Amino acid sequence: MISDACCDFETVEKINNDLTPRLRELSKTKFFKYYKLKLYKECPFWKEYGMCVNQACAVETTDESNVPEMWRSDVLGALQTSQAGTFFQPFKKCEYTDQDFCVVEDESDSEGVFVNLLDNPERFTGYAGASASRVWKSIYEENCFNIIPPINNNQFNNNHFASSSTGKQLGNILQNVARRSDPTDNEEICFEKRVYYRLISGLHSSISIHICNEYLNQTTGQWGPNLECFITRVASHPERLQNVYFNYIVLLRAISKAADYLNGYEFCTGDKNQDLQVKAMVSELLNVARSCPETFDEKQMFASPESRLLKEEFKARFRNVSRIMDCVGCDKCRLWGKLQISGLGTALKVLFSYDDEYLNPKVNPNLLTRTEIVALFNTFNRVSESLSAIEHFRHVYQESIRGN
Ligand code: FAD
Repeated sequence: MISDACCDFETVEKINNDLTPRLRELSKTKFFKYYKLKLYKECPFWKEYGMCVNQACAVETTDESNVPEMWRSDVLGALQTSQAGTFFQPFKKCEYTDQDFCVVEDESDSEGVFVNLLDNPERFTGYAGASASRVWKSIYEENCFNIIPPINNNQFNNNHFASSSTGKQLGNILQNVARRSDPTDNEEICFEKRVYYRLISGLHSSISIHICNEYLNQTTGQWGPNLECFITRVASHPERLQNVYFNYIVLLRAISKAADYLNGYEFCTGDKNQDLQVKAMVSELLNVARSCPETFDEKQMFASPESRLLKEEFKARFRNVSRIMDCVGCDKCRLWGKLQISGLGTALKVLFSYDDEYLNPKVNPNLLTRTEIVALFNTFNRVSESLSAIEHFRHVYQESIRGN
């Protein structure tokens, strides 16, 4: 069984075998391959000098003339201006609403850039050292919650933890956090905080898996899977491996929960045939996702009335992680880091900000923006590709043992 979830690894892998090709195809469509973001924001927490100068760190942006007219900033900007014309100054949009778990990219922002994700694959870039470890350290430090969460004895799985160490600044964050996530550890920790940690660690593992799966052998100049890299960074730490599966089930649950909303969504690119095709692809994918056994029960989180403050802190900390992403000193890593935090943030918003009735596309058609939907599905695709890579590495490992 996957800790804190309602299913086992084998079930998730079976589901993924069905979903991977669908997600892969979907990510190639016009609607899903273009993502708009503010890629060059200043790091709000420290002066970042560690800009990666490797060619592999560069992002190829797309000129707005290549994207459907209706997504261009001048068109979207004009839509925001009232008929009163030049005298009307539209309010500057907030970075997030109360429901958001991350800073949401604003598609009408003229400072944003369009990126064709297919031209910028997430893979080894060579970004490492002090800059990268500072970002990871800061992200894990957000795990130090101040609110002492209530003990919820109904929490599922066998591990009933209570908070005993909240409010303390942890010395060696990374090691402590890793230890605290270990369900066999005696230190008690509440379910919500474990989920927070698992999501971050799962994202970190997933990024590492992509680095190892598309690794550049600097001697031969060849790209390809690097088993040793995968074992060292991920597989020799079972909890890191497990956290990727955890991310998968949380994303799967969010997509299933939002199925009615997404089925009613208009995937508009201006090309009617392609739009209908995308709608049909999404609908098939949602049917598969909905037919899956229950994988994660979000109702167990923030269940008691006292956990309202904890939920607010959880949200605030997740939003901070999306700001920390602006400190990543490698453009391509920042692109995928921002997109995936936005994807996870969208999943959390679906799971914890709206109940089922609210997710009705007829009553509330504008709950999610295009960028949120693109981020959600692309993040799911990335994690899905990570699970496929794990299966591949397992196979290569078994072959290498047989060969010896
Ligand atoms: P790091 O991965 O930097 O890890 C630092 C420490 O965190 C480790 O020593 C360990 O104690 C702990 N740790 C590691 N993994 C986990 C986990 N899953 N759960 C809990 N704790 C963990 N590089 C690329 O080549 N391509 C990319 O696309 C890319 N994207 C990045 C995106 C972000 C947001 C960031 C911050 C970095 C990215 N990097 C990327 C850099 C990459 O993640 C590593 O930082 C770098 O390769 C150095 O790796 P490392 O082995 O020193 O350990």
